[in-house]
Amino acid sequence: MLDSRMSTAKPMPEADAATLPFFEALSRQLLQVQRCTRCGASQLGERRCNQCRCDRLDWIAASGRARLYSFVVIHAAYHAAFPPPYNAAIVELEEGPRIYSNVIGCSDAQLRIDMPLHVVFEAQGGTWLPVFQPA
Ligand SMILES: [Zn+2]
Repeated sequence: MLDSRMSTAKPMPEADAATLPFFEALSRQLLQVQRCTRCGASQLGERRCNQCRCDRLDWIAASGRARLYSFVVIHAAYHAAFPPPYNAAIVELEEGPRIYSNVIGCSDAQLRIDMPLHVVFEAQGGTWLPVFQPA
């Protein structure tokens, strides 16, 4: 049951040391991923490379191209800021990392696993968050 006293402001992600560059880039409408300087693996939100454990990670611009890895359509009201129905998607970036997001620009019935997507930026809470549209 949705509590009518709940805020309609969307809860915002909180940056930590490993994700601060990601969120700072988003504030400039740039999507970035971490790239390991030793092995070249791409990832997000880690202090060390998941492949070789190297701690020298660069931030590089992501292409913005992605595919829909998985999704659900939410039909229950869990939070006043998220009126149903809406989709909750796991999007796999072209560089490899997967992020939680939403697909906009099509109906939920049109969502298909592996559909090509591209990033767009949605104003939220004084910054920009990445959401995805069909390519
Ligand atoms: Zn590595």
